[in-house]
Amino acid sequence: MRQSNLFTKTRKEAPKDEVSQNAQLLIRGGYIHKELAGVYDFLPLGLRVFKKIENIIREEMNALGGQEVLLSALQNPELWKTTDRWNDNKIENWFKTELKGGGELGLAFTHEEPITKMMTNHVTSYRDLPKYLYQFQPKFRNELRAKSGIMRGREFVMKDLYSFSRSEEELDTFYKEAGVAYENIFRRVGLGDVTYLTFASGGVFSRFSHEFQVISTAGEDTIYIDTEKKIAVNEEVLTEEVLEELSLERNKLVEAKAIEVGNIFKLGTKYADALGLTFKGEDGKESSVHMGSYGIGVGRLLGTIVEVLCDEKGIVWPESVAPFQVHIVDLSQGDEKIQALALDLYKDLEKAKTEVLLDDRDLRAGEKFAQSDLLGIPYRIVVGKHSTETDFEVVRRSDGLTRGVSREAIIKGEYGF
Ligand code: ATP
Ligand code: MG
Repeated sequence: MRQSNLFTKTRKEAPKDEVSQNAQLLIRGGYIHKELAGVYDFLPLGLRVFKKIENIIREEMNALGGQEVLLSALQNPELWKTTDRWNDNKIENWFKTELKGGGELGLAFTHEEPITKMMTNHVTSYRDLPKYLYQFQPKFRNELRAKSGIMRGREFVMKDLYSFSRSEEELDTFYKEAGVAYENIFRRVGLGDVTYLTFASGGVFSRFSHEFQVISTAGEDTIYIDTEKKIAVNEEVLTEEVLEELSLERNKLVEAKAIEVGNIFKLGTKYADALGLTFKGEDGKESSVHMGSYGIGVGRLLGTIVEVLCDEKGIVWPESVAPFQVHIVDLSQGDEKIQALALDLYKDLEKAKTEVLLDDRDLRAGEKFAQSDLLGIPYRIVVGKHSTETDFEVVRRSDGLTRGVSREAIIKGEYGF
């Protein structure tokens, strides 16, 4: 991709009403556009990162045995009345809308009810189970405060997986595997060192649910970490009794602000009972399906990566989710020989299937470097007066280290850092 052709441009200032660091940097970098508070569009650069994250999650969900579906965003109130979740006093952040001919519809804030109902058409015998269905699907939540940029959207894409098992043991086994898959995801997007499995309130079925919390001052949650055991407890469940149950000592726990990037819940038979999702066992007996739900906010995860890894100059993407791996900064300033060097390198990198962005615009060097830092592409290749046909300067964005690297090595993606 040539930057002269890229939609859109970097900006010096973020909108005045944008208070979060993640959205400020992403807007300035041309990754996203702000429609209104808590509502953001993804532009080409942002969508590239979004898709990378989505694919990492998808690979891990498929490895778990998940099958991808896409359920509708418009929802039938009748299903939600069955579980008493249509009630605005129970669920405070519903967006609801009306049909022309009369009657209400809900805009999806989650999918337990519709997916459970849908499964009643497909599950009759123990042979139909277990099944694991997941989707990347827009959710709508009438969040009271939307001050965390894309980490708390009023519209956002969630990966939600629902597990359908024959017994509590089968659910427990899958639940553990899902936890491992989540750890893989957060490690792969560069947050492994700062993500803690956190005990949180269980809601309907089990004593606890588990959250995956990333340490960050931008976080809205407070957690208490045991750094040796690498687990944490959400303040919402921090009691003497819970600490004892988890064999944790209060004075060994460190308080921290954190961002909930994902969570996993055991739902037991609550939804299956309410909506009639049963199966006939080997012995001919009819039982309710045991369910679990497993969420990750894709935009929240993207925003969290920005918050945690950025520096004073801008965004710092890990290679696994970067929109491009290499940013060639052409400093030819009208010198055709240098321009040809940059262009040749660009073309050869494209041929080698390296994701490369070429800054071929007519701007001052200082401006190009500042914008390159803001964009956060992992490796910058500077093509200027000192470049030769065989040697270039490569700068690593994460720590600013600079090396002279041969053209041959660059084409192979070997920078030697
Ligand atoms: P929170 O406690 O932050 O409000 P939640 O506990 O309501 O979130 P779930 O309903 O379990 O979250 O949603 C699953 C995942 O979806 C969360 O772990 C988070 O990553 C993401 N998520 C939830 N709400 C939002 C939002 N408003 N914007 C972006 N992502 C969200
Ligand atoms: Mg929560």
